[in-house]
Amino acid sequence: MLNIGAHLSISKGFLACGKEAVSIGGNTFQFFTRNPRGGKAKEIDKKDADALIEYMKEHNFSKILAHAPYTLNPCSATEKTREFALETMKDDLKRMEFLPNNLYNFHPGSHVGQGAEKGIELITKQLNTVLFPEMTTTVLLETMAGKGSEVGKTFEELRSIIDGVDLDEKIGICLDTCHVFDGGYDIKDNLEEVLEEFDKIIGIKRLKAIHLNDSKNYLGCHKDRHEKIGKGAIGLEGMIKIINHKDLKDLPFFLETPNDIDGYAEEIKLLRENYKY
Ligand code: FE
Ligand code: FE
Ligand code: ZN
Repeated sequence: MLNIGAHLSISKGFLACGKEAVSIGGNTFQFFTRNPRGGKAKEIDKKDADALIEYMKEHNFSKILAHAPYTLNPCSATEKTREFALETMKDDLKRMEFLPNNLYNFHPGSHVGQGAEKGIELITKQLNTVLFPEMTTTVLLETMAGKGSEVGKTFEELRSIIDGVDLDEKIGICLDTCHVFDGGYDIKDNLEEVLEEFDKIIGIKRLKAIHLNDSKNYLGCHKDRHEKIGKGAIGLEGMIKIINHKDLKDLPFFLETPNDIDGYAEEIKLLRENYKY
């Protein structure tokens, strides 16, 4: 079965979010751990978390994916910003243990002129502070489009981050199809080669989730503008190849396409119809 879901609002609670995922044909979902602009997270309702865990078992869910606030920047040049990133991630990872064995994704950050090498050093430092041996969550570095001074725009940069982490068994990768395409990896016409390169540099076993998005722009544009499935430069055929690739077909896929809830339902239906397993 294709494991697929969309980015949903968690504001009504965990169980409600799980039910919404099923109502649009999904068997997983992504959610923000808190207001994407940061700030204090709502108190965790343990009963609600347990109810979601039960519901997920009953409905054959794959792992769900929590997304850190996108303003979080572990490699900022400002100490206060880095501290905020550290405290937020620490708190998020503690909270994730209410939903054990799932995934937590974050943007490695922007080095804002300090250079990628310095950025990588700051990111690994943060990870070495927040990861703890007993955690059951896998923390995912998201592949970035290379907009501005984003770190994580190449497989090599992601590899360097992982290399610096002591508890590296807790680290995986979330591949965003729009981002890698915008970053210059031709997953439309050269999917096989791109995945071979990923395997050679990072190791395909590290790949734990896919953000399935089409792109509004051309290969290598470094823009990061998501498009609806089949309406962008990667195209429907490209998307169908991706969900059916032997190394990807069993991963959870998450839509972050510009859609309302009905639009997500249509995309999930379309992708399920074109899944060959
Ligand atoms: Fe993201
Ligand atoms: Fe993404
Ligand atoms: Zn994006």
